[in-house]
Formats: sequence, structure tokens, C-alpha cells
Amino acid sequence: MIQLYIPLNFLGVLYREIKQSLTDLDKMFTLMEKEREVADRPGAQPLAGDDWSVRFEHVNFAYEPARQILHDVSFEIPAGKTVAVVGPSGSGKSTLARLLYRFYDVQEGHIRIAGSDIRDVTQASVRQAIGIVPQDTVLFNDTVEYNIAYGRPGATRAEVEEAARSARIHGFIESTPRGYQTMVGERGLKLSGGEKQRVAIARTLLKDPPILIFDEATSALDSANERAIQAELKSVAQHKTTLVIAHRLSTVVDAHEILVMEAGRIIERGTHQQLLAHGGRYADMWALQQSAEGEKFADVMGM
Ligand code: ATP
Repeated sequence: MIQLYIPLNFLGVLYREIKQSLTDLDKMFTLMEKEREVADRPGAQPLAGDDWSVRFEHVNFAYEPARQILHDVSFEIPAGKTVAVVGPSGSGKSTLARLLYRFYDVQEGHIRIAGSDIRDVTQASVRQAIGIVPQDTVLFNDTVEYNIAYGRPGATRAEVEEAARSARIHGFIESTPRGYQTMVGERGLKLSGGEKQRVAIARTLLKDPPILIFDEATSALDSANERAIQAELKSVAQHKTTLVIAHRLSTVVDAHEILVMEAGRIIERGTHQQLLAHGGRYADMWALQQSAEGEKFADVMGM
């Protein structure tokens, strides 16, 4: 009994950490079916539709009953557009992403994808429709090829290479002694933050989902790497419905809408130009960033 309990408990802890860091390890869900906090309704059908819009309607959410985290959050990401969320640490940005991926169910309001409330359709189909590029990609102790192909099990080597080329990691992979057969992860070749994000981008390119969640890295990449990753993310996001948790102003300027969050509420919203003209919190942050040239948005935002 004890022997069984310990590993299960360990898996539970691991699962919570993974869920927290928004990592896309669907394998874990299968392993830890019991740990799921949300379940399919009897007779739930797969998500269907060709308009991949995302809508939050008056969403209220608390992880624990005593402490409400999101307060009446409403916004829409029209199909193929990008909405960026900015705000200080703890304001609820990642919570939006966790709810969209249906790690938790909302207590009030609705989250809709293609018009369907995500509680009414199968979780598997919601997760199939969403690709996550997390801040910190977890790599399996396996080959580079496996780690990329994980985006679409059954992908051919040629498809894996094509995705790696688009994510601009092919050259690096080829330069390692065993190429795509190089072992990575904890027990293999350690990749830098930028290289890991590229692997995540390659995975997502292979999966080719209609909806994307980008959790932009707060950790410092050198600026050349950072610009390159942003360019790659931008090309991946083209024509996809995208939610970006942004830490840099350069990422948000082109967004269809920017949501400024504070303590679980949207306190300002609009395009970059509208928010500058409004002269509120966002405009202050922008001015601060301009004066602190070269500084990261994250630093200015206290994120
Ligand atoms: P950051 O920029 O630091 O990642 P964030 O804006 O993404 O922050 P969230 O991670 O969404 O913030 O957290 C919002 C609030 O919810 C925080 O006060 C946090 O402590 C709380 N919270 C987050 N995850 C949980 C959880 N699993 N259980 C209880 N409270 C949580």
C-alpha cells in the first residue's frame, strides 16, 4: 500500500507542477487520469467548427473558494487574431491560459471555442485544438527527433526536419554529433532556453493547431536570440487564434487587442495606439520603457 502510495503521490506533485508551468505533456494526463480536476460530461462530443474564435464571457474563477482570482473577465480573440495579456506578477495572466486549456473549470461565466462552451465538449478535443509554447519547455530524456515528433505522433523524419528548419533549430541539431538522434533532457545534451523554446515551436508547427498559447519567457535570452524567437513565434502565429502572455512591449504592439490585467481584473484594453492615446497604466509603462532604453518590458512592469 505504502509502496503504491508514494509514487502516485509523487506523480500528483509532478502533475501539479507541470500544470502550473503550462507544459504540454498530454502523456501526463493519460498517466494521471485520476488527478484531473475536470471531467467530460456524459455524452460530450468533440469540439467542432471552422471558426476558431475564443471567447471569455464574464468569467469568475477561484482556485480555492476563499480567494477569488478572476473577476468578471470578458474578451474575444477573433479567429486568426492575436490578443496579448500584460500585467504584474500574480495578476492572473497564466490563469487565463490554464482555463482556456481546461486545466480547471470556471465557476461563473463561459469560455467558448468556436462558439461551444468548453465544458460541453471533450477535453481531448479542446487540447487537440490548442498548441502551447510554454516559458520553459520540458524535454523528454529521448532523442531530439522524438522530442519534436511528440507534437504529432507518427510524423515522418522529413516532417520533423521541416518543422525544425522553420523553427530555426535544424542547423544546431545537425551540428551535434548524432544529429536528430542526439539524446536531450536531464540525462542528455542540455539545451539553452532559446534552443528549448525552438524545440517547442517545432513541436507546435508539427501539431499545427488552430489555437495557440504563447507564454513568453521572462528569463533573459540574449537580445539577438530574443528577436529571432519573436520573429519565429510571429510566423507560427500567422492565421492562428493566439493568446500571448507577454512580457515585452515589442511582442504586443501588433496585437488585435491588448488586455492590461491587475488583481484578476482587466483594467484597460485596446490596441497599442488606443492605449497610448488613453494615457493610463499602459501608456505609463510604455513611457517608462522608452526612458529605460534596452530594458525589458518585464522589468518595467515588475513582472
Ligand atoms: P506571473 O506573471 O508571475 O506568471 P500571472 O499574472 O500569470 O503571474 P497567475 O499565475 O495567473 O498570475 O496567478 C494569479 C493568482 O492566482 C496569484 O495570486 C497566484 O498566487 C494564484 N494561483 C496561481 N495558481 C494557483 C493554484 N494552483 N492554487 C492557488 N492559487 C493559485
